Amino acid sequence: MTPRPPIPPVPARRPWSLRTQIAVVFGSLVSVVALLLSLAFGELLKLRAQHEAAAALHMVGHNAAKVMAEELFERSRLVQVLASSQDLWDKGLGAQDLLPLLQRMHTSRPYSRWIGVADVHGIVQTDSNHMFSGQDVSAAPWFQAGIKDPYVGDVHELPALAERIAPSPSGEAQRFLDFAAPIERNGETVGVLGLHLSWDWARDTLEGLRPTYADHAQIELFVFNREGRMIYAPGGRIAPFVALDQRLPETEPPPALGRDSLTVPGLAGLAHWADAQPQFLTAVTRLPARNLASDLGWYVVVRQPTATAFAGADSIVSRALAGGLVAALLSALIASLAARRLSEDLNSLSRAALHIEAGTPGAVVPLTHSTREVQRLSSTLGHMTRRLLEMNEAMEEVVRQRTLELRYANQELERLASSDPLTGLLNRRGFDARLAQALALAQRSSLPMSVITIDVDHFKQVNDTHGHEIGDQVLRSLAQQLRSRLRASDVVARLGGEEFIVLLPETTLAQAQQLAEELVRAVRDQPQDPVGSVTVSAGLSALRPGDADACAMLRRSDEALYAAKTAGRNRALAQP
Ligand code: GH3
Ligand code: MG
Ligand code: MG
Repeated sequence: MTPRPPIPPVPARRPWSLRTQIAVVFGSLVSVVALLLSLAFGELLKLRAQHEAAAALHMVGHNAAKVMAEELFERSRLVQVLASSQDLWDKGLGAQDLLPLLQRMHTSRPYSRWIGVADVHGIVQTDSNHMFSGQDVSAAPWFQAGIKDPYVGDVHELPALAERIAPSPSGEAQRFLDFAAPIERNGETVGVLGLHLSWDWARDTLEGLRPTYADHAQIELFVFNREGRMIYAPGGRIAPFVALDQRLPETEPPPALGRDSLTVPGLAGLAHWADAQPQFLTAVTRLPARNLASDLGWYVVVRQPTATAFAGADSIVSRALAGGLVAALLSALIASLAARRLSEDLNSLSRAALHIEAGTPGAVVPLTHSTREVQRLSSTLGHMTRRLLEMNEAMEEVVRQRTLELRYANQELERLASSDPLTGLLNRRGFDARLAQALALAQRSSLPMSVITIDVDHFKQVNDTHGHEIGDQVLRSLAQQLRSRLRASDVVARLGGEEFIVLLPETTLAQAQQLAEELVRAVRDQPQDPVGSVTVSAGLSALRPGDADACAMLRRSDEALYAAKTAGRNRALAQP
């Protein structure tokens, strides 16, 4: 039998279970993937969100710019159309019916603060609210420009008019825009039509254009003029910005968007403003002028603090990360649940293996089904175990057979070692062993025991006369005769030469005497072919209570035999 391989030592630290390992591996893998994906996608989404914030801001500015340009153009066109309406001026610039017309225009056009007509010398002939009738306005820019071409004048202060009307709701001084156009009659310029528009128009227009979420999103609109000076701030309050010398901001693209992305014209960029520390997402849009006269070169500027503009974008990454971590936890849980069946199957296989090793009756490898590999493993293990058990049984059968054969061979060897080859009786060695057993039994149970020593008389002569072969034949025949006349429990042995010994358990000396005499008589009466009658002498003795061993009994028996020889042979004598 091959020696068993040594059982490997159990490691000091118990390894994690398969289930935990799978859960940890899956959890970690998904965490890493989720982290990388959420960082990559988060960054991408962040860019997108920033783009959208910039585009939305730009859209607010663009719409405002478009509306303002449109209104400037419309007013300029109105003044121009009126000025070139021939029939209006047929009766002269100071005609009585001009006044109601101008007054109607004044009241019907919101934010109109003054409408008037000046002749070619700059003397006001008619005006809507009689403020400047008869006054010389020839030095006013609107007059000087308006006598040549249709004109729109940039925002400016006009204290003479401002002091006559209500102040601006912003608390700052009223400012005005000028619209003017030459009045022509029969192809000749006869005067100038002028209109002063309150700058409140800009405030109300821009406030009206602010999206509804503007307050919450902290979106503010500004207007800068051609020179880059601020002309409008939220609520009309430009004073603080003017004090800080706020100029048209220069924008740069947000770092995350890259340099190219915001070079797309019109999109918003980052800019520093004089009134606040953090950067603003800022969209600058030049007013799209409809005609040359109304092109004042203004810029509508919309700003929003970057913290607010990009708030959604920043939270996208952390939300994506949180989502990824939740996904990682969920997948670890699912992996752990999936691994449980596999783990249970492997445990049941190892339990079955322990039972088989311990030899528990009926222990078999269960067929497990969680995965194809485990199913194959369990089936293979089952087959292997059955095969090993069968081989083991066959081997045990062979061992049992060999053991029996060995025992038989040993018994045969023992028999041969303790028997006499010539007669088949026990030899001295075999006799000694049986004597020891019988002695022990006799001493323990205080039963009698006797021995008879037998020697063939004048056997030398048999040999000498008939040859050694015949001598052997006689010895075999005597042995047969002795054996046939004794009980199965009696022991007969050939001690050597022509001398035999008979051990008689549970036999007294008297009974032995009787038996010895019968034997002597039987031998004498049985002639041996071709030798004829052969006699034997016998000496006998019995175990005495004081005998420590059998030696004394045997010696006495020998002495008795000697005495029988001396007394004439063919007899049995006892030595009590
Ligand atoms: P006694 O009556 O005094 O016993 O005379 P004996 O001739 O029998 O005695 P002795 O001791 O002188 O002779 C024994 C003879 O037995 C000697 C030997 O030749 C013969 N002998 C011993 N062993 C064997 C044997 O195995 N086979 C044969 N054929 N003869 C044997
Ligand atoms: Mg002899
Ligand atoms: Mg003899």
